[in-house]
Order: sequence, then structure tokens, then C-alpha cells
Amino acid sequence: MANDKVILRGRHRRYLYVLEGSTICGEAHVTASQEEMALLWHRRLGHMSKKGMEVLYKQDLLSGLKSSKLEFCEHCVFGKHKRSAFGFEIHRSTKVLEYAHSNVWSKSPIPSHSGKEYYISFINDYSRYVWVYFLHHKSEEGITRHLTTFYTPEQNGVAEQLNRTLLERARSMLSHSSLPPEFWAEVVNTTAYLVNLSPCSAVQLKTPFELWHKRVPNYSRLRVFGCVAYAHTPRENRTKLDPKAKKWYFIGYQQGVKGYRLWDPVDCKLIVNRDVSFNEARSLKEGRKLMLLILTRASLTHRELRGR
Ligand SMILES: [Zn+2]
Repeated sequence: MANDKVILRGRHRRYLYVLEGSTICGEAHVTASQEEMALLWHRRLGHMSKKGMEVLYKQDLLSGLKSSKLEFCEHCVFGKHKRSAFGFEIHRSTKVLEYAHSNVWSKSPIPSHSGKEYYISFINDYSRYVWVYFLHHKSEEGITRHLTTFYTPEQNGVAEQLNRTLLERARSMLSHSSLPPEFWAEVVNTTAYLVNLSPCSAVQLKTPFELWHKRVPNYSRLRVFGCVAYAHTPRENRTKLDPKAKKWYFIGYQQGVKGYRLWDPVDCKLIVNRDVSFNEARSLKEGRKLMLLILTRASLTHRELRGR
């Protein structure tokens, strides 16, 4: 009893009260929803470390979050993401464009859903800002490097550590989303986007985004990778009796525009759309039948899909 209100009910058995049902009122409920909120933000941020989330929480950048207390995340274990470790080596550069590190990922065990087998990453030394490019063949590496004028050709610790971070967080996101591994390029691209929004110890817990763009990033558009998304169907693409929206799955952020990349597993179609409603509690785990459909059809769609 607290303030004459019943908090819990239970049957008296010998020396114990056996509790019945769940809490009726009180703080327990509030705590649970805050933990859920922390977990939601942890997923939106691509399984960011607790320490990184704390930095953003203290700056009041994560809407609705009242505590950075994070409960156990199984997908972090699957991704072997060490929550305590974040950020890279000691910072050296003093200007934004001074130099970048780069690294080519060894051949993927399977091609991406658009046929890419490699990716090359660049990390700007001063800001720790990250870019990733996806390649069909390793021979394209030279072309990508030519396009990016600032890099150090030798492989080094910073770039290798970046690739480890990218893959650990990408594995956690893929595990949580239940998307097939053919989506590795989408998830690595999303991870790079989120790494740029993550506090980094090498740059005094600032984010690469704020050092590169000279403004604090906006976290409000982040959503859980792989969740259900409903996109408005334009009038010209539907009849009067067709639904006004269609169900998709969210597979990342489109570079250069404010749109979301959405995927339809039934028609194997990818779109970029801004007019989207999300159900972040739902993902592909909904149906095994749908999953089998995806696995059989994902490899047939390379030419239909643009981008990754
Ligand atoms: Zn996690």
C-alpha cells in the first residue's frame, strides 16, 4: 500500500505473498516505458553504446527520453558490439580536409541485393566523418579513390577500426530486423550514416556530423532499421477503391534528400519516399512465409533495383 492505493495484489501463503497479475499503478509502469524508450532509441541509433547514448541524452537530443538506462540487448551480443568501447584512435588532424583514412572490405560472402560485392570506406581524420561506397568488383576501387581526392592509400588502424565498428553495428541491426543477409549493403550504409551521428571519443565526444557540417544533427527523423513503414500512394498510381497507402519495410536513409528508402518484399521494389508513417515495433519477423518469399526473390531483382 502507498497513499492508500493498492499497488500489487497477492495471496498469502505461509511466509510469502504470491503476486497475482501485474502492477496496477505506480512507478513500475513508468520505469518500464522509459526502458522501452531507451531501447527504441538504441535501435534507432543502430545499437549505439550506452556511453554514446548518455552523451546525446544529456544534451536533450533524443526526444521523449527521460533516462539513458539501457536494458540487455540480445542483438548487440549477436553483433559482438562492445557497448563500452566507442570512438577510434587519438585525434591528430587540426583541419577538416587535412586527410582521410580508407579501407576496402574483403569480398562479401554473398552479393548485395543489387549485386555489389565490396565496399570501400573513407574516414576523415579531423572530424571522423565516414563515407562508404559499394563496388561490383575490387577493380572499381581505383575509380572511387580517384573521385575522393583526399585519402591516405595505406591501410591503417583508424580505417580498420572503423570497418570493425561498421560491421559490428550492421550485424546487430540485421539481426534485429530479420532481413536476409543480401541487405548487407543497405545496413552498412545506414550504419555509416548513424556512426556520423554518434559521439566519438577521438573527437572529445562530439559527433562527426557536427564537426563536418558545423551544426548539431537532428535525430528526430531516425527510425528503427527494418521496421514496417506505410507510404502514401500517389493518386495517379491507384484507383478510387485502392488503399491510399502501401506497406513497406524501412531500409535506410537516402543520401542528399530527406527521403526514406523503403522496400516491398512482395513486388521486390525499392522506393524513396518522404511521406511515411512507421510502426517501429513491427519488423519482418511477422511471417515466415513472407521471409521465404524474400529469400527466393531477392536474388532475382538486381536490375529492377537502383542504388545498392
Ligand atoms: Zn543493441
